Amino acid sequence: MRKLHDKCYFCRGNLVKKKITMDYWWKGSLTLVENVPAWVCKQCGEEVFEGPVLEKIDQVVKGKAKARTVTVLVKKFNDLPLPASV
Ligand SMILES: [Zn+2]
Repeated sequence: MRKLHDKCYFCRGNLVKKKITMDYWWKGSLTLVENVPAWVCKQCGEEVFEGPVLEKIDQVVKGKAKARTVTVLVKKFNDLPLPASV
């Protein structure tokens, strides 16, 4: 596959190709998509997706393919005071 991205757009760090788990919100519900090929910045962790990959993610999320469910805890950042040093 042709390499589309060499450097991170934000920090100019090197990008490496990885399979990641992507979180995708659609109509108020969250779907995690596993094994998504992405370019990930070694320095800041920014994830870059190629166009066809994004299209496929869209199809996967909205499609009827088999899914498993996991429980996700949602907590509020404000429920604890910030450490004094921040
Ligand atoms: Zn970066």
